Amino acid sequence: MEKYKAIVELIKKSENILISSHKSPDGDSIGSSLALYHFIISLGKNPVVCHADKAANYINWVAGAHDIVLFEENPEKATALFKNSDLIFCLDYNSADRVGKDLEPLLIASKAKKVMIDHHMNPSDFCDIIVSETTVCSTSQLIFELIDQSGNLNLLNEHIGVPIYLGIMTDTGSFRFPSVQARTHDILADLIRAGIKHHEIHEKVMDTNTVDRLQLRGFVISEKLELIKDFPVAIMSLTEDELNRYNYQKGDTDGLVNVALSLEGIQVAAFFAEKDGQVKISFRSKGDYYVNVLAGDNFEGGGHKYAAGGISFEPIQPTIERFKALIPEYFK
Ligand code: 5GP
Ligand code: MN
Repeated sequence: MEKYKAIVELIKKSENILISSHKSPDGDSIGSSLALYHFIISLGKNPVVCHADKAANYINWVAGAHDIVLFEENPEKATALFKNSDLIFCLDYNSADRVGKDLEPLLIASKAKKVMIDHHMNPSDFCDIIVSETTVCSTSQLIFELIDQSGNLNLLNEHIGVPIYLGIMTDTGSFRFPSVQARTHDILADLIRAGIKHHEIHEKVMDTNTVDRLQLRGFVISEKLELIKDFPVAIMSLTEDELNRYNYQKGDTDGLVNVALSLEGIQVAAFFAEKDGQVKISFRSKGDYYVNVLAGDNFEGGGHKYAAGGISFEPIQPTIERFKALIPEYFK
């Protein structure tokens, strides 16, 4: 409560406020960034959101998304923003390297006050104020707490509420993961009372498939799904050639890993995608099996207990073999 009030005082005292989030922004990055953006505007300030790269179309429709300054499109402007800001928010990430190689040095060098609001474990010590709530489902839920616990719930409106709903929805697999609390549903009810149209948000996120994306999904399920004998593990993979065959667009493989996890009896799922000569890996799990340590120890990644990711600089097949070789030890 006191921390949230101190953050709002800091907002009121600051002139140049920058909102950052991790590279490859997901629904919670967009949700928390734009909810905070609209909240700060409602406090009479003029903040800017700056991300390393663009979000996928299925989340990039939120009001304010097209005002986000992207380093990949406008490096000079992004650099100037980091240099000139006196307050930087670090949303949905727990260490400076998560903003990517381009923004990390700008973030570190900045003399601005830094405020982390995040829900990943083990926050690094690079911010002046750290709100790290690892039992909360999403950073977007924490933006709601910031607004509520600083006594500003009267400012809640559709512009603020829609991105909060989006971030909670996408980080909880539509409100089904163990991270959902009774409090989460209290907040969702407040958002609906504030005028958001939840069915429209679901439609914009879920019902914007392209034929290519659906056929890519069909291909990976019918041709590239592999069950690991004797272990409750399923993997799927796509090479760069296969992605190109279906005219891959950013976001087309998001959530595919959950298809593998939806198999009866499967407790751990891994999805490997070859992009730009690297292999991006998504892990999901259930029950007693946690994937964040697996991702951190072996694939230069991290994340949450049940949803983590990593990267490999080896070709895709050796990467998959390396993962398979880890399985017996992991299930001991
Ligand atoms: P996804 O599979 O959706 O890309 O990522 C799932 C979760 O894993 C993300 O919400 C994030 O917390 C984490 N994650 C994904 N990629 C990385 C990575 O390269 N490094 C770290 N530290 N975490 C990651
Ligand atoms: Mn998140």
